[in-house]
Amino acid sequence: MRLSKRIEKVPPYLFVGISRKIAEKKAQGVEVISFGIGDPDIPTPSPIVDTLREAALDTRNHRYPETEGLPAFREAAAGWYWRRFGLSLDPKTEVLSLIGAKEGIGHASFCFIDPGDIALVPDPGYPVYSVGTWFAGGECHWMPLLEENAWLPDLDAIPADVASKARVMWLNYPNNPTGALADLDYFSKVVDFAKANDILVMHDACYTEVAYDGLRPVSFLQVPGAKDISLEFHSLSKSYNMTGWRLGVALGNAELINALMVVKSNLDSGVPQAIQMMGIEALNGPVDSMDGRNAIYQRRRDRLIEALRRVGLHVDPPKASLYVWAKIPEGYSSAELTEMLLEERDIVVTPGSGYGRHGEGYIRLSLTIADDDFERGLERLEAWTIPAKATA
Ligand SMILES: *Cc1c(COP(=O)(O)O)cnc(C)c1O
Repeated sequence: MRLSKRIEKVPPYLFVGISRKIAEKKAQGVEVISFGIGDPDIPTPSPIVDTLREAALDTRNHRYPETEGLPAFREAAAGWYWRRFGLSLDPKTEVLSLIGAKEGIGHASFCFIDPGDIALVPDPGYPVYSVGTWFAGGECHWMPLLEENAWLPDLDAIPADVASKARVMWLNYPNNPTGALADLDYFSKVVDFAKANDILVMHDACYTEVAYDGLRPVSFLQVPGAKDISLEFHSLSKSYNMTGWRLGVALGNAELINALMVVKSNLDSGVPQAIQMMGIEALNGPVDSMDGRNAIYQRRRDRLIEALRRVGLHVDPPKASLYVWAKIPEGYSSAELTEMLLEERDIVVTPGSGYGRHGEGYIRLSLTIADDDFERGLERLEAWTIPAKATA
C-alpha cells in the first residue's frame, strides 16, 4: 500500500517497543508497574461527573455542538483566566473550545505553516508540536532545552536567518518532560524576540495547575502585548483529572482564534455539549480546588526522588508538572536504561530520547500511579543496583 509521505515521516510511536515488551511480560504472568504515561489516577471530582450525568439526559445535548463551543463554556474559561491570571479575554472572539489541548495544538499548524515554513520547536518536547508542523508541510528548527539554561530555549542561540524565516515558536511551561517553569521575565524576552522577527508564539499551558511547594505558574498572556502574537492552550485534563473526557481551550489573539476555528469547523464539529457542561462546572469552581490533589503528587514526587537518589541517579525536584526528569549515569543510553528497568525490575519508565535528541541521557517518571502500586514500584526500584558499565 502506498501511504502519504506525511505518515511515513512520523517517527515510530514512543511506546510501541515498550508496549510489546510489557505484553510479553504480562503473558508470562509478570505484573509490570508503569511510571510511563502521565494520566491522573485520581478520579474527576464527583460534582463534575454528576453534571455529565444530568447533561446526558438533556436532549438538546444530543445534537451537533457549535464548533467554537457553548457561550457559557467560553465565558467560564474567560472567567477562570480572569480569576486565575487577572487577564481579560473576550469569550466571543478570544476563546475557543477544543477536543483536548492536543487537538488544538495539532490543528494549529494548519493556520500558519505552509510547505517549507519553519517552526521553532523545543527539544525535548511534547511530540505534537513537531508532528503537527510536519503534517502541515513545515520543517522544525529544534531549540535545545538544557539544564544549564534552566530548561529554557536560548533565544540568542537561534541563528538570525532561521529566526527571520520562522513562522512560529512553540513553548510549554510548566514543561513536559523536564518539570521546569518559565517566569514572566523570560516570557517578555520571548515576546520581544517574536515581535522583532515576526514570529507567532504558541504556548502550551497544560500544567499551570499542577505545581509544587506553593508555586503559582504564570500564563504567557500575562506579558503585555503577548496577545498580539500568540495563543495559549489550556487543558482540563491535568487541571481537573479529566484526561478521558477530552476538553481543552485555546485563548488569545482573535485573528488566530478565528483561523483555528476555520480549520476546526472543517475537520471536526467541536466538543460534545455534555462534556462542555462538565467544563463549565469545573471552571466555575473555586480556583484553589487543586491544592489537595497537588499535595498528593508532591508527596509522591518527594518519595520518588528519594528512591532515585538511593540508586544513584541525579535528580532536581520538578517545580511543576506530573514528571520527574532524572539524569542517568554516563555510559548508558536512555533506551538501554529503560530496557534494563523493565527486564530486571518489571517497571516502565520513558526514555528521554523519545522526546528529542536532547532528551538523551535522561528518563522520565510519571507521578500518576495509585499510592499502593507507586510504593511497590519504588521498592522494586530501590532494590536495584545499576550494573557498572564495562568500559571498552
Ligand atoms: C497531557 C498534555 C497535553 C494534552 O492535553 P489534552 O487536553 O489531554 O489533549 C498537551 N500538552 C502537554 C505538554 C501534555 O503533557
